[in-house]
Amino acid sequence: MVKVVKFGGSSLADANQFRKAAQIIREDKSRRYVVPSAPGKRSSDDTKVTDMLYTCYDAVANKGKNAYNQFAPIAQRFDGIIKDLGLTISLDNEYEQIIENFRKKYGTDYAASRGEYLNGIIMANFLGYEFIDPAKVIFFTPDGRFDDTLTDTCLASVLHDVPEAVIPGFYGAYPDGRIKTFSRGGSDVTGSIVAKAINADLYENWTDVSGFLMADPRIVKDPKTIETITYKELRELSYMGAGVLHEAAIFPVRSAKIPINIKNTNDPSAPGTMIVAENNNPPEHIITGIAGKKHFSVISIEKDEMNSEVGFLRRILTVMEKNNVSFEHIPTGIDTMSIVIDTADKERVPDIVDKICEVTDPNNISVEDGIALIAVVGTGMRSRRGIATRVFAALSHADINIRMIDQGSSELNIIVAIHDSDFEKAVQVIYDMFILSEN
Ligand code: ASP
Repeated sequence: MVKVVKFGGSSLADANQFRKAAQIIREDKSRRYVVPSAPGKRSSDDTKVTDMLYTCYDAVANKGKNAYNQFAPIAQRFDGIIKDLGLTISLDNEYEQIIENFRKKYGTDYAASRGEYLNGIIMANFLGYEFIDPAKVIFFTPDGRFDDTLTDTCLASVLHDVPEAVIPGFYGAYPDGRIKTFSRGGSDVTGSIVAKAINADLYENWTDVSGFLMADPRIVKDPKTIETITYKELRELSYMGAGVLHEAAIFPVRSAKIPINIKNTNDPSAPGTMIVAENNNPPEHIITGIAGKKHFSVISIEKDEMNSEVGFLRRILTVMEKNNVSFEHIPTGIDTMSIVIDTADKERVPDIVDKICEVTDPNNISVEDGIALIAVVGTGMRSRRGIATRVFAALSHADINIRMIDQGSSELNIIVAIHDSDFEKAVQVIYDMFILSEN
């Protein structure tokens, strides 16, 4: 049995959290590969080390400020952890090198990656595990895409000879050795890449919550925890995953069918959420979760005989592609089509509607802002009658008007569009309809 364990920033924010993480690792011999984030916030008004590094780099490389002064609070964070853990290592040489490279303008990715790099050195020393620099085993193509083939081969062969290692999260390197990071929260992705390369039995992702909740706790009071969720369901609920697991983290392990277990460093005995390829047990609830997001815009296009006009949608999509606008949904009628896009994208490209008009010559085109989307997701709804009815009944009893409906062909989700102002109420009544009524 081999497990890859990734610890997020809040799980390594100070020496106390480090000790909790180390205890978790030591109590299970199969936790052999550790992926640390940079130290996160110690309290709500604290600053993550990654953010400190971005600010420091900007001050040194762009504003010409004194590098030693700017870097001092960052060094203090790490030195504090080393001292409190009673370790004897010194990172002074590393700091010198980093400061010199900031002056030489090595770039923001290099700067941001140093949080994970330094934390990895401390973690490896504390655990007595080998330190492996991701710059030597995780690769990006010259145009900045993650190079999975090269990484997989290289990482697998290096780790083959190393029984226990710490591999910092968040970054790798271009072929020429320059550092490149994943997007924010990217240590989750590193954990998944490592798990795939060594064909781990499990990828444990340790964070500060005990898994995914069935609904947003800011809206629903004490929502239930999702015990098991499939990769597909999680994708459909991706509005919800934000903040717990990086969206891209499921892809490397998904192909190898390695499960991910979201666990809480501050409550290690809680089972957390298991993310699996397939759930062979009958689902616990008919629905697995409810997630949604506000601030969408719907562009509605009407044109006589649209249904027989070949290339109509392609022309619209070409406009969207050229302007780098992605769509959320495209519900269609016979002579009508609606495109749901993020309102922020519409504001970024204010003439997007004119451009669509030019290529489609519609009878009518209109835009409505202030739309929210809610996804009700669950494999339990497959081939089962009456699920949509219950969603609609809940909304109708709450006097909420449904603007649009979309059910994916996988029968895994029902998406409803409503007005932003109805959003919170809608999530609550759908949750109540499915979960409270089960009790
Ligand atoms: N430290 C990085 C960030 O704050 C990456 C991570 O924590 O996953 O985004």
